Amino acid sequence: MLEREREVSAYSGFLNKRLQLEQKREQEACCDIIISAPLKLMLEVTKVCNHRCIFCANSKMTRPRGMIDMALAERLLSEAAEIGVKELSLVATGEPFAFPKITDVIRIAKRLGYTYVYVTTNGGIASPEKLKSALDAGLDSIKFSFNAGTRETYRKIHGQDDFDKVVQRIKYVVDYRRKTQKSFPIGISFVVCDINRSEKKIIENMFGELVDDIVFHEMGAQGGHNNLLVEPIKNCARPFTIAGITYEGYLTLCCVDFQNYLAVADLNRLSLADAWNCETMQNIRKRFLTHDLKGTLCYRCLTGQIETVLPLIPSLATINKELFTDKKTA
Ligand code: SF4
Repeated sequence: MLEREREVSAYSGFLNKRLQLEQKREQEACCDIIISAPLKLMLEVTKVCNHRCIFCANSKMTRPRGMIDMALAERLLSEAAEIGVKELSLVATGEPFAFPKITDVIRIAKRLGYTYVYVTTNGGIASPEKLKSALDAGLDSIKFSFNAGTRETYRKIHGQDDFDKVVQRIKYVVDYRRKTQKSFPIGISFVVCDINRSEKKIIENMFGELVDDIVFHEMGAQGGHNNLLVEPIKNCARPFTIAGITYEGYLTLCCVDFQNYLAVADLNRLSLADAWNCETMQNIRKRFLTHDLKGTLCYRCLTGQIETVLPLIPSLATINKELFTDKKTA
């Protein structure tokens, strides 16, 4: 073989190997951004809330008030079940019991084969009758957002005087579980800030023997909506694992997307399976993998840097310049 031919053959061998390597990398990258199905659905049945908690952006939200259309909810629950989703969270920007058909949503999900349907409620409008019917419909777990050990602090944190009422409702659920011999978990979630920090022990004494779990979280960035200086979250896999659905029927990256700045597709026009791997979704997953999120809400959430952000799809968002300014505001 001539010297030149040897060179060409060695070079094409190198090129082939390079090509194979690149194809492999491309396939791997593809695997990272195209995902067969989310692990769970987080359904915002409404953005309406009866409380005004100081750590929550709900009261600053300017998105129009609304509730999910039941036909749309049923269709999306069914589409998600078809692609293998088994978990449904009814935790989002509003109070789930403000949605009059919450029990129907739970019943439909259980009929479709969801194995874990859970809710977090502030308990203020969840009357014993509503709680009972949700539990009878198959609710698998319930958590109360209860963020004070005294009535006075509760009023300051929640913006409502519901302390005694909610204590009674937590006790009602504990009692209902005992009487019916059901085994669903009951929890309490407590967001810790300077106002209630000294009351953690009171909560443990009040509920430690009654509920299964009391979770204390430090006040956080709340999906980048908190304009106070707070610790950023360490990491996030939501765009790879969770399908958030807003009451309007938009697929969003995050369950605390108060202004739809992270909405990626309109499920009134697209199936959940198509939207889950749509171009915008793939693009944002790539941006997560390459740490290229500047200008998005996720950047604020992950870095703690208060910067002006823009929605991923402006036509799906409600612009809120005040909330998303680059200024720290209390
Ligand atoms: S990084 Fe984005 S998706 Fe994850 S919690 Fe924060 S705002 Fe939500």
